[in-house]
Amino acid sequence: MSFSNLLQDMAIRERRQQGPATSSISLASTADDRSTISRARSYASTAATSVSISGDISSQLHGGYHHPLARSWQAERQLTKSMLIYPVFISDLEDEESLIPSLPGQYRYGLNKFIPFLETLVRKGLRSVMLFGVPMAPGAKDALGTAADDPKGPVISAIRLIRQRFPSLFICTDVCLCEYTNHGHCGILRDDGSLNNQLSVDRISDVAIAYAQAGAHCVAPSDMNDGRIRAIKLKLIEEGMAHRTVLMSYAAKFSGCLYGPFRDAAGSVPSFGDRKCYQLPPGGRGLARRAIVRDIGEGADIIMVKPASQYLDIISDAKELGKDLPVAAYQVSGEFAMIHAGAKAGVFDLKTMAFESTEGILRAGATIVITYFAPEFLDWLDN
Ligand SMILES: [Zn+2]
Repeated sequence: MSFSNLLQDMAIRERRQQGPATSSISLASTADDRSTISRARSYASTAATSVSISGDISSQLHGGYHHPLARSWQAERQLTKSMLIYPVFISDLEDEESLIPSLPGQYRYGLNKFIPFLETLVRKGLRSVMLFGVPMAPGAKDALGTAADDPKGPVISAIRLIRQRFPSLFICTDVCLCEYTNHGHCGILRDDGSLNNQLSVDRISDVAIAYAQAGAHCVAPSDMNDGRIRAIKLKLIEEGMAHRTVLMSYAAKFSGCLYGPFRDAAGSVPSFGDRKCYQLPPGGRGLARRAIVRDIGEGADIIMVKPASQYLDIISDAKELGKDLPVAAYQVSGEFAMIHAGAKAGVFDLKTMAFESTEGILRAGATIVITYFAPEFLDWLDN
């Protein structure tokens, strides 16, 4: 629209607001119209002058993000490969390579298949993995989760082999019993089926120590038993490993319906009941804040929030409460599957949503993202 058309348009609008006029008369021909146009012209010129000289210019934002590079500068932090941790499922069947149907494109690997797969990712710049062990062999599960720290079990074998084959890869190990117990709960149970916190913490801290001794760089207890961060830290100190082992706490791990695909992958569906007595209720922001403060006090080196996108306020709380600690966010299996499902249904583009969801997580305050999109991000970040 040219400037004169704009002025004419403004004049028409003003006339309409003033009520019905002699509409058949040509616009520029009346004294009224001339005065409207001159007011509009003077308004435009005054506005321009006030912007350029002394007026309030805070309304002028577009220039700052016109260019794609300038748009990227608007983010406080941007995703890099070193922020990514890739969660992987390692089975005790050495040649296993099973697609997990509910977790698009993700496999459960035996070590013979996992190492070549990992080699490709390390070449592309993968810096860190989170290992989840999955005992598939019959009879591997019992009430104490004995297989969790079996020296020949999937996690300890994987740590040793990865250290040997990929010395620069940072190994995080999920520490829990639910994949290894026959009841599928995250600890040792009392006769009435409730968690025995004391026994569970003793056992879980032993498992963490076994992983650190095998060479894990980071142990990450996900069981949500009270006091396990302190117990693990004390044992790491006693064993002389506290100085070389990162303790990442799943401090704010919420119960909910986003873990279904993970439980399919890890075979960790509880045989009775659920985990609501130890995982946080979705509305429990205050409880999450207390758990974060507690775990920082007990010696956590990194605070994790899980799931991620539904709990951005908690990530932000974690950053505020633990402002001197890195905050990690776990974009869990259900979030990943939802993004895939949305893309498949044509709601949005997969890559665009993968980035947008991650940008939200970083904006909330995380600097570490545990995500099944890690392999794709290694490619996407190169382009
Ligand atoms: Zn568990």
